[in-house]
Amino acid sequence: MSKKDIFCQIIDGEIPCYKLYEDDDVLAFLDISQVTKGHALVIPKEHYDNFLATPQETMHKVMDVAQRIGQVEIKILGAQGVNILTNCYEAAGQSVPHFHVHVIPRYDNKGGFVLEMHSNSDGLNLPAIAEEIGKSLK
Ligand code: 5GP
Repeated sequence: MSKKDIFCQIIDGEIPCYKLYEDDDVLAFLDISQVTKGHALVIPKEHYDNFLATPQETMHKVMDVAQRIGQVEIKILGAQGVNILTNCYEAAGQSVPHFHVHVIPRYDNKGGFVLEMHSNSDGLNLPAIAEEIGKSLK
């Protein structure tokens, strides 16, 4: 049998966490490495490798809780903004292979948040790219 990932161990109570919310399908807790104060993780209790591999109904339940935590962090923690993000596969920075959504409150200071997006569109054919992706979504 393959080894349980760390979030399955948290769900099963084998590893402690600072719990924020729990219902039959979803668990939310503080990330052990707080990028900013209140940095939360929201996960489905059933194991799916990442967002892309998660059935729609479960994904919606996880996102509902992420939205509520973001709202609370603005209202109660005094955050000025919130980043909601989920990494899919190692190439995108995913280190725990169990679907999870980061809810990262943002304050005036940046804390440890380093995600930066820079334009890299030189030489790209945007109409062709849109056509290629779009035709698979029809
Ligand atoms: P990823 O890099 O996969 O998007 O995010 C995984 C997150 O899980 C990291 O931010 C990391 O700090 C967090 N994490 C890893 N192990 C534990 C743990 O044992 N407890 C908690 N609460 N968070 C963890």
